[in-house]
Amino acid sequence: MAEGLRLVLFGPPGAGKGTQTRLLSGHLKAQAISTGDIFRSNLEQKTPLGLRASEYMNQGILVPDEVTIDIVLDKVMSVHSDEGFILDGFPRNPFQAGALEQALVLRSRPLDLVIFIDVPEEELVKRLGGRLVCRNCQAPYTLAAAGQTETPAGERGKEKCGQCGGELYQRADDTPIAVTKRIEVYHDQTLPVLDFYQVRGLLAKVDGADTVQNVYNRVLKEIQRVSKTKDRE
Ligand SMILES: [Zn+2]
Repeated sequence: MAEGLRLVLFGPPGAGKGTQTRLLSGHLKAQAISTGDIFRSNLEQKTPLGLRASEYMNQGILVPDEVTIDIVLDKVMSVHSDEGFILDGFPRNPFQAGALEQALVLRSRPLDLVIFIDVPEEELVKRLGGRLVCRNCQAPYTLAAAGQTETPAGERGKEKCGQCGGELYQRADDTPIAVTKRIEVYHDQTLPVLDFYQVRGLLAKVDGADTVQNVYNRVLKEIQRVSKTKDRE
């Protein structure tokens, strides 16, 4: 294939978009553009954008459109026109989807596919509530995978990352109140993005209530379908 695929991975918080994006970007040699990672690196470096964004993220509220669109589209436009990319965490509402579409028109190459990873709400609450992240290398863990089935709140700081030995902690936007808020926001603002892509014939739906490997296989199947069509053009 001469040109890299341009994908959006779409789904609720906790659907595993980040994990699938990492797997795919290696396989497709496409650039992973994760809104969450861009924001978190800004937070760590305490940039003005990071400080602005953190006020929203800690409450589980979406970062305002103008901030998000600027930072993401800047990154998208920096990808070489032959190179592919995978967007994770953007667009989150139809307005952002429209801004992305217009920007890609300027580059005369639209999106190839939007993959919707569908996970039932009760499964999401379970996943996000039990998620810990390594302070050092950002590797994600569930409480069970970190070595304990249940850990008293006071003991959490004692768990260590299996990859680098770093401290595991719960992100501020993974606390129960923030999780509930994130899912609410997803229903109100993000789900309409599905319609946006459905009418454009770009949407593929994948069952995400399964192991990482099984979900990945389903995602690959959808991508292969699009790649074949593209190669024939
Ligand atoms: Zn680590």
